[in-house]
Amino acid sequence: MKINFECDKCQNFNQFHIKNKCEIVCNNCEKKYGTIDLNWNYNNECIFCKKTHFYKRKNFNQLIGLFIIILGGCLAVGFHSKYGPLSYIFLGVFSLLDFILFKFTDFMGVCYSCSAEYYQIDGVDALENFEHHNLEMYQN
Ligand SMILES: [Zn+2]
Ligand SMILES: [Zn+2]
Repeated sequence: MKINFECDKCQNFNQFHIKNKCEIVCNNCEKKYGTIDLNWNYNNECIFCKKTHFYKRKNFNQLIGLFIIILGGCLAVGFHSKYGPLSYIFLGVFSLLDFILFKFTDFMGVCYSCSAEYYQIDGVDALENFEHHNLEMYQN
């Protein structure tokens, strides 16, 4: 189990690797957030804010995705004088690569209220997709 959380006290970005039941403490300011059990799942309260509202998101770097598409586009343009319209195959192949990368990327669960990210926990597929009006409920 892995958890990413930006400390609300000192803004330090923490990455926790949970292997045993343990107390979650900010790596920087040592603020204690609570204890997490290995059988924690999305039906439990968020460790940090005690809410139980999560959405699923792909752990996919959109910058890399964009980079792949741009690279494909550049190759297509670069080889256009040599191969003509055939060069657009580059774009097709790179788009497909992008799609495959996205498809095989795992979901993570994100807390609506405090944006803590929970990785490698069963049941993530059952979570809802991100809804903006749900996020607004927690922003005040
Ligand atoms: Zn802190
Ligand atoms: Zn939370």
